[in-house]
Amino acid sequence: MTRCLSLFGATGSVGQSTLDLIRRDGEAWRVGVLTANCDVKELARMAIEFRPDVAVVADESCYGDLQAALAGSGIEAAAGAAALVEAADRPTDLVMAAIVGTAGLAPTMAALAAGHDVALANKEALVSAGELMTAAARASGATILPVDSEHNAIFQCLAGGRIEQVRRIILTASGGPFRTMSAADMAAVTPAQAVAHPNWSMGAKISVDSATMMNKGLELIEAHHLFPVGLDRIEILVHPQSVIHSLVEYIDCSTLAQLGSPDMRIPIASALAWPQRMATPCAPLDLATIARLDFEAPDEVRFPATALCRAAIAAGGARPAQLNAANEVAVAAFLAGRISFPAIVDTVRRVIDAAEPAAPASLQDIFSVDAASRAAAQHFVDQFEHA
Ligand code: NAD
Ligand code: MG
Repeated sequence: MTRCLSLFGATGSVGQSTLDLIRRDGEAWRVGVLTANCDVKELARMAIEFRPDVAVVADESCYGDLQAALAGSGIEAAAGAAALVEAADRPTDLVMAAIVGTAGLAPTMAALAAGHDVALANKEALVSAGELMTAAARASGATILPVDSEHNAIFQCLAGGRIEQVRRIILTASGGPFRTMSAADMAAVTPAQAVAHPNWSMGAKISVDSATMMNKGLELIEAHHLFPVGLDRIEILVHPQSVIHSLVEYIDCSTLAQLGSPDMRIPIASALAWPQRMATPCAPLDLATIARLDFEAPDEVRFPATALCRAAIAAGGARPAQLNAANEVAVAAFLAGRISFPAIVDTVRRVIDAAEPAAPASLQDIFSVDAASRAAAQHFVDQFEHA
Protein backbone atom coordinates (compact mmCIF):
# COMPACT_ATOMS: atom_id res chain seq x y z
CA MET A 1 0.00 0.00 0.00
CA THR A 2 1.33 3.43 -0.92
CA ARG A 3 1.99 5.68 2.07
CA CYS A 4 2.02 9.48 2.03
CA LEU A 5 5.04 11.36 3.35
CA SER A 6 5.11 15.07 4.23
CA LEU A 7 8.71 16.25 4.21
CA PHE A 8 9.63 19.41 6.08
CA GLY A 9 13.17 20.63 5.35
CA ALA A 10 13.37 18.76 2.06
CA THR A 11 16.43 20.62 0.75
CA GLY A 12 18.61 19.88 3.78
CA SER A 13 20.94 17.02 4.50
CA VAL A 14 18.30 14.83 6.21
CA GLY A 15 15.67 15.92 3.67
CA GLN A 16 17.80 14.86 0.73
CA SER A 17 18.73 11.55 2.35
CA THR A 18 15.02 10.92 2.91
CA LEU A 19 14.21 11.63 -0.74
CA ASP A 20 17.06 9.37 -1.81
CA LEU A 21 15.36 6.48 -0.01
CA ILE A 22 11.89 7.38 -1.31
CA ARG A 23 13.22 7.61 -4.86
CA ARG A 24 14.47 4.02 -4.63
CA ASP A 25 11.15 2.80 -3.30
CA GLY A 26 8.74 4.76 -5.48
CA GLU A 27 5.98 2.16 -5.27
CA ALA A 28 5.78 2.40 -1.49
CA TRP A 29 5.56 6.18 -1.18
CA ARG A 30 3.93 9.27 -2.47
CA VAL A 31 5.00 12.73 -1.29
CA GLY A 32 2.28 15.09 -0.02
CA VAL A 33 4.31 18.09 1.10
CA LEU A 34 7.82 19.40 0.40
CA THR A 35 9.22 22.47 2.16
CA ALA A 36 12.37 24.59 2.19
CA ASN A 37 13.46 27.85 3.72
CA CYS A 38 14.31 29.83 0.56
CA ASP A 39 16.14 27.56 -1.90
CA VAL A 40 13.42 27.83 -4.53
CA LYS A 41 15.47 26.32 -7.32
CA GLU A 42 16.17 23.10 -5.44
CA LEU A 43 12.65 22.91 -3.96
CA ALA A 44 11.08 23.32 -7.41
CA ARG A 45 13.40 20.69 -8.87
CA MET A 46 12.38 18.25 -6.13
CA ALA A 47 8.71 19.14 -6.53
CA ILE A 48 8.81 18.43 -10.26
CA GLU A 49 10.42 15.06 -9.53
CA PHE A 50 8.25 13.97 -6.57
CA ARG A 51 4.93 15.68 -7.47
CA PRO A 52 3.75 16.72 -3.98
CA ASP A 53 0.32 18.33 -3.53
CA VAL A 54 2.02 21.46 -2.21
CA ALA A 55 5.52 22.95 -2.02
CA VAL A 56 6.10 25.54 0.69
CA VAL A 57 8.87 28.10 1.12
CA ALA A 58 9.17 29.47 4.64
CA ASP A 59 10.60 32.77 3.43
CA GLU A 60 7.66 34.75 2.03
CA SER A 61 9.91 36.88 -0.17
CA CYS A 62 10.55 33.72 -2.25
CA TYR A 63 6.87 33.12 -2.98
CA GLY A 64 6.82 34.76 -6.42
CA ASP A 65 9.84 32.77 -7.55
CA LEU A 66 8.28 29.51 -6.36
CA GLN A 67 4.99 30.28 -8.12
CA ALA A 68 6.89 31.02 -11.32
CA ALA A 69 8.99 27.85 -11.01
CA LEU A 70 5.89 25.67 -10.51
CA ALA A 71 3.62 27.43 -13.00
CA GLY A 72 1.71 24.91 -15.10
CA SER A 73 2.93 21.94 -13.02
CA GLY A 74 -0.33 21.48 -11.13
CA ILE A 75 1.62 21.66 -7.86
CA GLU A 76 0.36 24.23 -5.39
CA ALA A 77 2.90 26.81 -4.20
CA ALA A 78 2.67 28.35 -0.73
CA ALA A 79 4.84 30.52 1.49
CA GLY A 80 5.30 31.67 5.05
CA ALA A 81 5.07 30.35 8.58
CA ALA A 82 1.28 29.90 8.51
CA ALA A 83 1.53 27.92 5.26
CA LEU A 84 4.04 25.58 6.88
CA VAL A 85 1.64 24.93 9.75
CA GLU A 86 -1.27 24.45 7.36
CA ALA A 87 0.79 21.95 5.34
CA ALA A 88 1.65 20.01 8.52
CA ASP A 89 -2.04 19.68 9.31
CA ARG A 90 -2.90 18.05 5.96
CA PRO A 91 -3.76 14.33 5.92
CA THR A 92 -0.66 12.15 5.63
CA ASP A 93 0.77 8.89 6.92
CA LEU A 94 4.08 10.27 8.16
CA VAL A 95 5.64 13.69 8.67
CA MET A 96 9.42 13.92 8.42
CA ALA A 97 10.46 16.87 10.61
CA ALA A 98 13.85 17.81 9.14
CA ILE A 99 13.85 21.60 9.44
CA VAL A 100 16.84 22.85 11.44
CA GLY A 101 16.25 24.87 14.60
CA THR A 102 13.12 26.05 16.40
CA ALA A 103 11.85 27.16 12.98
CA GLY A 104 10.57 23.58 12.83
CA LEU A 105 8.64 23.71 16.08
CA ALA A 106 5.30 25.14 14.90
CA PRO A 107 4.80 22.73 11.97
CA THR A 108 5.94 19.76 14.06
CA MET A 109 3.47 20.67 16.81
CA ALA A 110 0.73 21.05 14.20
CA ALA A 111 1.52 17.60 12.82
CA LEU A 112 1.41 16.02 16.28
CA ALA A 113 -1.79 17.84 17.19
CA ALA A 114 -3.36 16.47 13.99
CA GLY A 115 -2.40 12.96 15.12
CA HIS A 116 0.22 12.39 12.43
CA ASP A 117 3.14 10.13 13.22
CA VAL A 118 6.32 12.21 13.11
CA ALA A 119 9.78 11.01 12.14
CA LEU A 120 11.72 13.53 14.18
CA ALA A 121 15.14 14.79 13.09
CA ASN A 122 14.51 18.38 14.27
CA LYS A 123 15.97 17.99 17.77
CA GLU A 124 15.87 21.72 18.56
CA ALA A 125 12.05 21.60 18.59
CA LEU A 126 12.08 18.83 21.18
CA VAL A 127 14.76 20.56 23.25
CA SER A 128 12.72 23.78 23.38
CA ALA A 129 9.27 22.32 23.82
CA GLY A 130 9.73 18.70 24.87
CA GLU A 131 6.89 18.61 27.39
CA LEU A 132 4.43 20.24 25.00
CA MET A 133 5.44 18.00 22.11
CA THR A 134 5.25 14.73 24.02
CA ALA A 135 1.93 15.83 25.58
CA ALA A 136 0.55 16.67 22.11
CA ALA A 137 1.60 13.25 20.85
CA ARG A 138 0.00 11.50 23.83
CA ALA A 139 -3.22 13.48 23.42
CA SER A 140 -3.60 12.76 19.70
CA GLY A 141 -2.17 9.24 19.70
CA ALA A 142 0.66 10.24 17.34
CA THR A 143 3.95 8.35 17.51
CA ILE A 144 7.27 10.18 17.54
CA LEU A 145 9.84 8.09 15.67
CA PRO A 146 13.34 9.33 16.43
CA VAL A 147 15.57 9.93 13.41
CA ASP A 148 18.61 11.27 15.25
CA SER A 149 20.94 8.28 14.96
CA GLU A 150 21.50 7.86 18.72
CA HIS A 151 17.81 8.09 19.56
CA ASN A 152 16.88 5.84 16.71
CA ALA A 153 19.42 3.35 18.09
CA ILE A 154 17.90 3.58 21.58
CA PHE A 155 14.39 3.24 20.15
CA GLN A 156 15.51 0.04 18.42
CA CYS A 157 17.26 -1.29 21.56
CA LEU A 158 14.13 -0.61 23.63
CA ALA A 159 12.30 -3.19 21.54
CA GLY A 160 14.40 -5.72 23.48
CA GLY A 161 12.88 -4.98 26.90
CA ARG A 162 10.62 -2.67 28.86
CA ILE A 163 11.51 0.94 29.63
CA GLU A 164 10.83 0.30 33.36
CA GLN A 165 13.61 -2.31 33.23
CA VAL A 166 16.26 0.02 31.83
CA ARG A 167 19.18 0.72 34.11
CA ARG A 168 21.12 3.06 31.85
CA ILE A 169 20.96 4.64 28.45
CA ILE A 170 24.38 5.32 26.99
CA LEU A 171 24.45 7.99 24.29
CA THR A 172 27.53 7.66 22.14
CA ALA A 173 29.34 10.71 20.78
CA SER A 174 32.03 10.85 18.12
CA GLY A 175 33.74 13.69 19.99
CA GLY A 176 33.72 15.78 16.82
CA PRO A 177 36.64 17.17 14.82
CA PHE A 178 38.38 18.71 17.86
CA ARG A 179 38.21 15.70 20.16
CA THR A 180 41.96 15.65 20.75
CA MET A 181 42.65 19.40 20.36
CA SER A 182 43.80 21.57 23.27
CA ALA A 183 41.53 24.35 24.52
CA ALA A 184 44.17 26.88 23.43
CA ASP A 185 44.16 25.59 19.85
CA MET A 186 40.37 25.53 19.75
CA ALA A 187 40.36 29.31 20.21
CA ALA A 188 41.62 29.69 16.63
CA VAL A 189 39.58 27.13 14.71
CA THR A 190 37.70 28.30 11.63
CA PRO A 191 34.13 27.54 10.52
CA ALA A 192 35.53 25.34 7.72
CA GLN A 193 37.41 23.23 10.28
CA ALA A 194 34.38 23.02 12.56
CA VAL A 195 31.98 21.79 9.87
CA ALA A 196 34.39 19.07 8.68
CA HIS A 197 32.98 16.23 10.79
CA PRO A 198 35.22 13.15 10.90
CA ASN A 199 32.42 10.59 10.34
CA TRP A 200 29.14 12.19 9.29
CA SER A 201 28.13 14.50 6.45
CA MET A 202 25.53 16.90 7.88
CA GLY A 203 24.15 20.44 7.71
CA ALA A 204 26.38 23.28 8.96
CA LYS A 205 24.54 23.97 12.22
CA ILE A 206 24.60 20.42 13.57
CA SER A 207 28.20 20.03 12.42
CA VAL A 208 29.25 23.00 14.56
CA ASP A 209 27.15 21.61 17.42
CA SER A 210 29.06 18.34 17.08
CA ALA A 211 32.35 20.23 17.28
CA THR A 212 31.35 22.03 20.51
CA MET A 213 29.63 18.86 21.82
CA MET A 214 26.51 21.00 22.23
CA ASN A 215 24.94 18.45 19.90
CA LYS A 216 25.42 15.74 22.50
CA GLY A 217 23.99 18.01 25.19
CA LEU A 218 20.93 18.73 23.04
CA GLU A 219 20.68 14.98 22.45
CA LEU A 220 20.75 14.36 26.19
CA ILE A 221 17.71 16.64 26.51
CA GLU A 222 16.13 14.96 23.50
CA ALA A 223 16.68 11.51 25.08
CA HIS A 224 15.22 12.71 28.37
CA HIS A 225 11.95 13.60 26.61
CA LEU A 226 11.80 10.56 24.35
CA PHE A 227 12.88 7.94 26.89
CA PRO A 228 11.76 8.89 30.42
CA VAL A 229 14.16 6.75 32.46
CA GLY A 230 15.40 9.63 34.65
CA LEU A 231 18.13 12.09 33.76
CA ASP A 232 20.73 10.43 35.97
CA ARG A 233 20.30 7.22 33.98
CA ILE A 234 21.38 8.83 30.72
CA GLU A 235 25.14 8.91 30.19
CA ILE A 236 27.41 10.12 27.42
CA LEU A 237 30.28 8.01 26.10
CA VAL A 238 32.78 9.15 23.49
CA HIS A 239 33.20 6.59 20.72
CA PRO A 240 35.26 8.11 17.92
CA GLN A 241 34.37 5.61 15.17
CA SER A 242 30.58 6.26 15.28
CA VAL A 243 29.78 2.59 14.71
CA ILE A 244 27.79 1.97 17.88
CA HIS A 245 25.03 4.57 17.75
CA SER A 246 23.93 4.15 21.39
CA LEU A 247 23.30 1.45 23.99
CA VAL A 248 20.62 0.43 26.47
CA GLU A 249 21.56 -1.45 29.63
CA TYR A 250 18.80 -3.40 31.37
CA ILE A 251 18.50 -4.32 35.07
CA ASP A 252 19.90 -7.79 34.36
CA CYS A 253 23.11 -6.10 33.09
CA SER A 254 22.38 -7.12 29.52
CA THR A 255 23.41 -4.25 27.27
CA LEU A 256 21.90 -3.90 23.81
CA ALA A 257 23.56 -1.74 21.17
CA GLN A 258 22.63 -0.71 17.64
CA LEU A 259 25.50 -0.63 15.14
CA GLY A 260 25.74 0.58 11.58
CA SER A 261 27.79 2.60 9.12
CA PRO A 262 27.63 6.32 9.85
CA ASP A 263 25.03 6.99 7.16
CA MET A 264 21.86 8.86 8.14
CA ARG A 265 19.87 6.88 5.59
CA ILE A 266 19.98 3.94 8.05
CA PRO A 267 18.10 5.63 10.93
CA ILE A 268 15.89 7.46 8.41
CA ALA A 269 14.94 4.13 6.81
CA SER A 270 14.26 2.68 10.25
CA ALA A 271 11.81 5.52 10.99
CA LEU A 272 10.21 5.43 7.54
CA ALA A 273 9.57 1.70 7.56
CA TRP A 274 8.76 1.24 11.28
CA PRO A 275 7.50 -1.18 12.50
CA GLN A 276 8.77 -2.96 9.37
CA ARG A 277 12.21 -2.74 7.76
CA MET A 278 13.14 -1.50 4.31
CA ALA A 279 16.22 -2.18 2.20
CA THR A 280 18.78 0.64 1.90
CA PRO A 281 21.76 1.17 -0.40
CA CYS A 282 23.99 1.81 2.64
CA ALA A 283 27.30 0.07 3.19
CA PRO A 284 26.92 -2.98 5.44
CA LEU A 285 29.13 -2.87 8.50
CA ASP A 286 32.52 -4.43 7.87
CA LEU A 287 33.74 -5.04 11.41
CA ALA A 288 36.82 -7.00 10.36
CA THR A 289 38.06 -3.95 8.46
CA ILE A 290 37.06 -1.54 11.24
CA ALA A 291 38.96 -3.97 13.54
CA ARG A 292 38.57 -1.99 16.75
CA LEU A 293 36.09 0.20 18.56
CA ASP A 294 37.37 2.80 21.02
CA PHE A 295 35.66 4.48 23.94
CA GLU A 296 36.55 7.30 26.32
CA ALA A 297 34.84 9.44 28.92
CA PRO A 298 33.76 12.89 27.71
CA ASP A 299 36.03 15.80 28.72
CA GLU A 300 33.67 18.40 30.19
CA VAL A 301 36.51 20.85 30.79
CA ARG A 302 37.42 21.29 27.13
CA PHE A 303 33.80 20.71 26.10
CA PRO A 304 31.57 22.36 28.74
CA ALA A 305 28.41 22.31 26.59
CA THR A 306 27.15 18.91 27.75
CA ALA A 307 27.22 19.97 31.40
CA LEU A 308 25.36 23.19 30.51
CA CYS A 309 22.67 21.12 28.83
CA ARG A 310 22.41 18.67 31.71
CA ALA A 311 21.96 21.59 34.13
CA ALA A 312 19.38 23.21 31.83
CA ILE A 313 17.17 20.13 31.61
CA ALA A 314 17.60 19.40 35.32
CA ALA A 315 16.39 22.95 36.06
CA GLY A 316 13.60 22.49 33.50
CA GLY A 317 11.09 25.26 32.80
CA ALA A 318 12.33 27.67 30.17
CA ARG A 319 16.01 26.78 30.53
CA PRO A 320 16.28 24.33 27.62
CA ALA A 321 14.44 26.69 25.23
CA GLN A 322 16.64 29.56 26.37
CA LEU A 323 19.82 27.52 25.91
CA ASN A 324 18.78 26.27 22.50
CA ALA A 325 17.87 29.70 21.13
CA ALA A 326 21.13 31.22 22.39
CA ASN A 327 23.05 28.39 20.78
CA GLU A 328 21.32 28.89 17.42
CA VAL A 329 22.32 32.56 17.41
CA ALA A 330 25.87 31.86 18.58
CA VAL A 331 26.44 29.13 15.98
CA ALA A 332 25.16 31.42 13.21
CA ALA A 333 27.53 34.17 14.45
CA PHE A 334 30.45 31.75 14.47
CA LEU A 335 29.62 30.52 10.96
CA ALA A 336 29.45 34.16 9.82
CA GLY A 337 32.96 34.70 11.16
CA ARG A 338 31.77 37.11 13.86
CA ILE A 339 32.80 35.23 17.01
CA SER A 340 35.41 32.65 17.94
CA PHE A 341 34.67 28.98 18.45
CA PRO A 342 34.89 29.09 22.30
CA ALA A 343 32.61 32.16 22.27
CA ILE A 344 29.73 29.94 21.09
CA VAL A 345 29.38 28.16 24.42
CA ASP A 346 30.38 31.33 26.32
CA THR A 347 27.48 33.15 24.68
CA VAL A 348 25.06 30.42 25.71
CA ARG A 349 26.36 30.50 29.28
CA ARG A 350 26.03 34.28 29.49
CA VAL A 351 22.47 34.21 28.22
CA ILE A 352 21.56 31.61 30.84
CA ASP A 353 23.29 33.56 33.61
CA ALA A 354 21.69 36.86 32.60
CA ALA A 355 18.01 35.92 32.98
CA GLU A 356 15.74 33.20 34.27
CA PRO A 357 12.52 33.30 32.29
CA ALA A 358 9.31 31.96 33.82
CA ALA A 359 8.41 28.36 33.02
CA PRO A 360 6.51 28.23 29.70
CA ALA A 361 2.94 26.92 29.77
CA SER A 362 2.15 27.22 26.07
CA LEU A 363 3.77 27.22 22.67
CA GLN A 364 3.40 31.00 22.67
CA ASP A 365 5.42 31.15 25.91
CA ILE A 366 8.15 29.07 24.25
CA PHE A 367 8.26 31.47 21.31
CA SER A 368 8.58 34.40 23.75
CA VAL A 369 11.47 32.73 25.57
CA ASP A 370 13.05 31.90 22.23
CA ALA A 371 12.80 35.51 21.02
CA ALA A 372 14.11 37.03 24.26
CA SER A 373 16.98 34.57 24.37
CA ARG A 374 17.91 35.32 20.76
CA ALA A 375 17.99 39.04 21.52
CA ALA A 376 20.18 38.46 24.59
CA ALA A 377 22.51 36.22 22.59
CA GLN A 378 22.83 38.89 19.87
CA HIS A 379 23.86 41.35 22.57
CA PHE A 380 26.66 39.07 23.82
CA VAL A 381 27.70 38.22 20.27
CA ASP A 382 28.11 41.97 19.61
CA GLN A 383 30.22 42.26 22.76
CA PHE A 384 32.44 39.34 21.74
CA GLU A 385 32.77 40.68 18.22
CA HIS A 386 33.93 44.09 19.41
CA ALA A 387 36.04 42.88 22.35
P1 NAD B 1 20.30 21.42 6.89
O1 NAD B 1 20.81 22.76 7.26
O2 NAD B 1 21.07 20.60 5.91
O3 NAD B 1 18.80 21.56 6.33
C1 NAD B 1 17.84 22.28 7.03
C2 NAD B 1 16.51 22.33 6.29
O4 NAD B 1 15.66 23.22 7.01
C3 NAD B 1 16.61 22.86 4.87
O5 NAD B 1 15.63 22.25 4.06
C4 NAD B 1 16.25 24.34 5.04
O6 NAD B 1 15.71 24.93 3.87
C5 NAD B 1 15.22 24.29 6.15
N1 NAD B 1 15.19 25.53 6.94
C6 NAD B 1 16.26 26.20 7.47
N2 NAD B 1 15.84 27.29 8.13
C7 NAD B 1 14.49 27.31 8.02
C8 NAD B 1 13.49 28.20 8.50
N3 NAD B 1 13.79 29.33 9.18
N4 NAD B 1 12.19 27.91 8.23
C9 NAD B 1 11.86 26.80 7.52
N5 NAD B 1 12.78 25.93 7.05
C10 NAD B 1 14.08 26.17 7.29
O7 NAD B 1 20.09 20.62 8.25
P2 NAD B 1 20.21 19.05 8.51
O8 NAD B 1 21.62 18.72 8.79
O9 NAD B 1 19.46 18.30 7.48
O10 NAD B 1 19.46 18.94 9.90
C11 NAD B 1 18.05 19.04 10.00
C12 NAD B 1 17.64 18.66 11.42
O11 NAD B 1 17.97 17.29 11.63
C13 NAD B 1 18.39 19.45 12.51
O12 NAD B 1 17.54 19.68 13.59
C14 NAD B 1 19.51 18.50 12.92
O13 NAD B 1 19.92 18.69 14.26
C15 NAD B 1 18.83 17.16 12.76
N6 NAD B 1 19.77 16.07 12.50
C16 NAD B 1 20.53 16.09 11.38
C17 NAD B 1 21.44 15.06 11.13
C18 NAD B 1 22.28 15.05 9.89
O14 NAD B 1 22.98 14.08 9.64
N7 NAD B 1 22.27 16.07 9.06
C19 NAD B 1 21.57 14.02 12.06
C20 NAD B 1 20.76 14.03 13.19
C21 NAD B 1 19.85 15.05 13.42
MG1 MG C 1 22.79 12.46 16.65
